[in-house]
Amino acid sequence: MTEPTRPEFHVLQADVFAANTTLIVRDNTVVIVDAGVGVTGQVTSLIERNGWDPLGLFITHGHVDHTWDAAELSAALDIPVLIHEADRYHLDDPFGIDPDFPERRDPSRMLVQAFASFGLRPDLFTTPNRIETLGSDAAVESSIGQVWGGQWRWIAAPGHTPGATIYVFGDEADSAALPLACTGDVLFARSVGRTDLPGGDHRIMADTLEMLCTALRSETLLIPGHGPTTTMGDELTFNPYLRSGMM
Ligand SMILES: [Zn+2]
Ligand SMILES: [Zn+2]
Repeated sequence: MTEPTRPEFHVLQADVFAANTTLIVRDNTVVIVDAGVGVTGQVTSLIERNGWDPLGLFITHGHVDHTWDAAELSAALDIPVLIHEADRYHLDDPFGIDPDFPERRDPSRMLVQAFASFGLRPDLFTTPNRIETLGSDAAVESSIGQVWGGQWRWIAAPGHTPGATIYVFGDEADSAALPLACTGDVLFARSVGRTDLPGGDHRIMADTLEMLCTALRSETLLIPGHGPTTTMGDELTFNPYLRSGMM
């Protein structure tokens, strides 16, 4: 019997906040998770070199260190951008400065300040042309669910942002592969995402983390939005935020 393997994946690290952009490859097709600042050239050349067929850009959440290149990448590869409905507004107003949406405003301007030192100004952000949302549109979910014969799933994981989403690949019961999950800014190696940015919620995050302890199998490889990969089993053992059951 051959040892089960994981789906093929490649992680590219952006200069800004070292955000990870991940390519998951299956049967010569590829799904991209997140679009860090300036990664478009690297992603497209990797795809061209390997002759992969790109299927979609899956966004873990709306913060611009994960979405800055979404418009460029989506246009260059002619693929849709998939994001949870609750974070959809970030693609129009990623810094929370649009006066037409007072409920989403960030009066503290924390996001503007956080990215200003990298030269990422609100007027330089481009909204992608092709956006599809999870959590609100059954037709989109059933059509995007066909990707890889449905051998992937998404988990709503609010707390860091309202629409934070975890994408799990190769987790079906009859799979010969070991699963891997892109956890965005929800779960990191030995840490978890902050909840003090606009839209963050400490209590909701605690519920999400408790849910993940059973939703992700311990052999699942975790590819966080920042930092090194880990496994769910290691995090259940060593991550203080999961062990205490409370953040
Ligand atoms: Zn974030
Ligand atoms: Zn981030």
